[in-house]
Amino acid sequence: MKISKMANEISPSLTRKLFDMSKKYDDVIDFTLGDPDYQTPDYIKKAGCEAIMSGKTKYSANAGLPELRRVVSQRIKKETGIDYDPDSEIQITVGAMEGIFMTLCCLIDKDDEIIIPAPFWVNYKHMTQMLGGKPVIVDSDEEHDFVITSDALVNAITDKTVAMIINSPNNPSGTVYDHDTLEKICEVAKQRDIVIIWDECYKSIVFDDAHFSSVLDFDGMKEHTVVVNSCSKRFSMTGWRVGYLAGPAELISNMPKLQENIAACVSLPSQYAAIAALGGDDEASDEMKRGFEKRRNVLVEGINNIDKLSCKYPKGTFYALVNIKKTGMTSEEFAYALLESVHVAVVPGITYGDACEGFVRIAYTMNEDRIIEGVTRIKRFVDSL
Ligand code: PLP
Repeated sequence: MKISKMANEISPSLTRKLFDMSKKYDDVIDFTLGDPDYQTPDYIKKAGCEAIMSGKTKYSANAGLPELRRVVSQRIKKETGIDYDPDSEIQITVGAMEGIFMTLCCLIDKDDEIIIPAPFWVNYKHMTQMLGGKPVIVDSDEEHDFVITSDALVNAITDKTVAMIINSPNNPSGTVYDHDTLEKICEVAKQRDIVIIWDECYKSIVFDDAHFSSVLDFDGMKEHTVVVNSCSKRFSMTGWRVGYLAGPAELISNMPKLQENIAACVSLPSQYAAIAALGGDDEASDEMKRGFEKRRNVLVEGINNIDKLSCKYPKGTFYALVNIKKTGMTSEEFAYALLESVHVAVVPGITYGDACEGFVRIAYTMNEDRIIEGVTRIKRFVDSL
């Protein structure tokens, strides 16, 4: 059988590799996937169940249920003050993931370039490559909180650049882009006519005095931005697979055509659950955020008590990058040895680009006792080196 070059060239991510390897051990502490242990709140589950029991189990419009698009538009208006027309500027997607893929489908012709600041969620790079585009990675470093400078961005732009993807709060670094940095990036995007794919799927998980700023805060940015979001992280709905895009009609009007040929629509019960989630208040997601903050504190404190390891307090998300450089190991060597010796699974930083070599990512998606047990084992491992 002939397998396409594209399929041959995509390799599974190290995140999934470590997750799969961890399943060999009954007593493993698995810090790999970004899939929190919190349950979807009951009122959202109920809306999904009621949809099923009342026979709402068919296809919907390719763009998604009109009622859900209206709810999304109202939520964005409440949070940003910006109007999006539910009929022409909102698309319902199979998680943020399909939203990013469809956006790239709309933007990329062969060899077009997509700027991806590192560290990055690895799927951005793979999706760009699957579509015949070229990922252009712009590095950042720990000293600058893993935020790229606008100079680095300008240097990366060529006449093939069509878009850049910004993820704030960021997976894997936990960085939240500040207002001034975003303002400079937006100026560049406007001057050079570059689309910003704005992945804000961790927007509800911001800690301490960090403030969530959006590219939509700046004049004229609606025309240059595709907002990507989903219910996955905000309402602990990763398995429901429901998200959305908001952007200019010129771009979003193409999405139903793409959706017709990809998934037809998002599962209808999930769309009804999303109406309950996005149309409701944020009490449950605020409570989850407070839980993540406590877990973060336990984790970072524990890691910083281990000789040779260090970890800055992430400002958002439920991920932390642990600096392992003093062990002298690469991030892959560290992750494999840690798993084999004390049955703790973490993701090697190299997964997220060269900028993250010398780090491993820990997802603090489990209760504090498990985190403490994981950190105790990591200490035992590092002390034994
Ligand atoms: N964007 C980022 C940065 C992510 O980390 C993830 C999932 O981990 C996604 C998008 C996709 O989320 P979903 O498709 O579940 O909405």
